[in-house]
Amino acid sequence: MTPACLAQHTSSKLSGRRNSDKLEQRGVFVQPENYLEGLLLFSRYAFPCAKEEWDDFDWLKKIVEKKCEPNGWLLEYRFGNACKSYVECGLCRESGYKADFSRESVAFHWRYHHEGKTPVSIATVLEVSREMAMVISGSKTFWVSNPFKHLLEPMITSVSVHNNMIIETIE
Ligand SMILES: [Zn+2]
Repeated sequence: MTPACLAQHTSSKLSGRRNSDKLEQRGVFVQPENYLEGLLLFSRYAFPCAKEEWDDFDWLKKIVEKKCEPNGWLLEYRFGNACKSYVECGLCRESGYKADFSRESVAFHWRYHHEGKTPVSIATVLEVSREMAMVISGSKTFWVSNPFKHLLEPMITSVSVHNNMIIETIE
């Protein structure tokens, strides 16, 4: 299965916003402005748990490489538990974040509250070598891959790591 990328990205986003403005007046759930960025980040955090034998693996890969628009339905279908834990996270709610898939709340939850089989660690880049980087987290140093091609500066860049993949850089 190779679903086509959504070519009408801009127009659907605009009409989505117009609709949500109406909903906002009625006090109904509103998508944040950076909803697509949040979905992309969520997809990247979940991606290390994707299985290559899935028939939509290539679609997921295109999404995390920004060659395809993120898809909430696919996230829910493939990473239902991760979505559920994000939506229901009490610590996020305590901190005032809504589970609205804004970039900020997705980052906050995965960096600090992710409780999957493989933990997310926050690390500092020590050394960069081609596609790989050596990082330190606590007292542990280890090599990780940089599949999303983030710009990394040794001794400066902090990153979050999931399953030995750099997911995002942290300011
Ligand atoms: Zn959380």
